[in-house]
Amino acid sequence: MHIRLFKPSIGEEELNAVREVFDDAWLGIGPRVKAFEEAWTEYLGSSASIALNSCTAALHMALAAFRFPEGKKVLVPSLTFASTALAALHNRLEPVFVDCDPETLSISVADLERKITPDCVAVVPVHFGGYPADLVAILDLAKRYQLKVIEDCAHCAGGALEGRKLGTWGDFGCFSFDEKKLMTTGEGGMASSHDRQLIETIRPMRWYGTSRDTARRAGGYTDVNVARHWHYEITEIGYKFNMNDLAASIGLVQLKKLDRLNRRRLVLIGRYLDGLRTIRSLRPLLPYQQSDGNAYFLFGVRTDRRDKLIRHLKEWGIATGVHYVPLTLQPLFAAHAGTAPVAEALWTQMVSLPLFADLSESEVDYVIEALHDFERRPVTVFDRAVPTG
Ligand SMILES: *Cc1c(COP(=O)(O)O)cnc(C)c1O
Repeated sequence: MHIRLFKPSIGEEELNAVREVFDDAWLGIGPRVKAFEEAWTEYLGSSASIALNSCTAALHMALAAFRFPEGKKVLVPSLTFASTALAALHNRLEPVFVDCDPETLSISVADLERKITPDCVAVVPVHFGGYPADLVAILDLAKRYQLKVIEDCAHCAGGALEGRKLGTWGDFGCFSFDEKKLMTTGEGGMASSHDRQLIETIRPMRWYGTSRDTARRAGGYTDVNVARHWHYEITEIGYKFNMNDLAASIGLVQLKKLDRLNRRRLVLIGRYLDGLRTIRSLRPLLPYQQSDGNAYFLFGVRTDRRDKLIRHLKEWGIATGVHYVPLTLQPLFAAHAGTAPVAEALWTQMVSLPLFADLSESEVDYVIEALHDFERRPVTVFDRAVPTG
């Protein structure tokens, strides 16, 4: 028995979509990227979207769109993946790490307000594990202190709060289509905004800093009245961050499935929660809510015997993860150590368990059985995870 932690839900439909791209033999940026951007904007209820090669690029470009002066500060959670803070550094901005709420593990509004200074220009909340950050309070603070809000939606594609899609509350929503995330394009990302102009600002940046990409120039190839179809201008220092048509063709199929995949994950989470009810030493990672509109990337538990649980599940052939070592404990951000005490204490208790749409009921039951078996094991003084481990 081997149960993976994450697994993309892909099949014939995605293969057929890729086959069509092969038949057209236009693999790079092209009509499918545009179609995927439009479909995504429509699905989200946003104004415009731009498809990129990752969420890392989306976060980077979202911050770049505001052209903040060098050295300004960006508030980011400590408990997140590297990309959230790298986006600030790539823009020559300084990350300020905010602690997490002990229950939702998303950014703590109280600590956010404490850490805002006149140098702060933006905040990048992460909807941790798919549980919505407290957007009402965050937007209120952002308004009072004139901060731009970039939602890191890598964990919550398709999720909503109060009937409004996550990623449409702030100035930008940035999504990941990495293979582990809620839907995939292999590698990929999207930045969406209610402000079309912000999206247009990113367009040259994602394509070497030039004014027209090849898809836009291609229309002129056949027009005999146009001699300079090849013309473009280099307007700034750009990147090669675009999505390609191969990826977009997969994304168009996955987007149609996204709501179904998210509902399926909710069913599996419900089954996990039922199974956990009689296990006293394990607590659910998040205050999971069972209503429609919730999109969760992570299912996990909290335990003060983390490393022992991870080793135990390995014996049962069950993959686990730890999301995440707080960034303030990473060597790159060593100067910020100690600035997020809640995250720096809680992460030692966190274990992510297998969660993906194609996981079967019997596999969840098997994991629960393994957890019950763990519960029956005697506790020893060596069980506690060491903070650095
Ligand atoms: C996965 C992830 C990213 C980066 O997404 P990529 O598409 O892999 O670049 C950013 N933020 C968070 C919170 C993530 O989990």
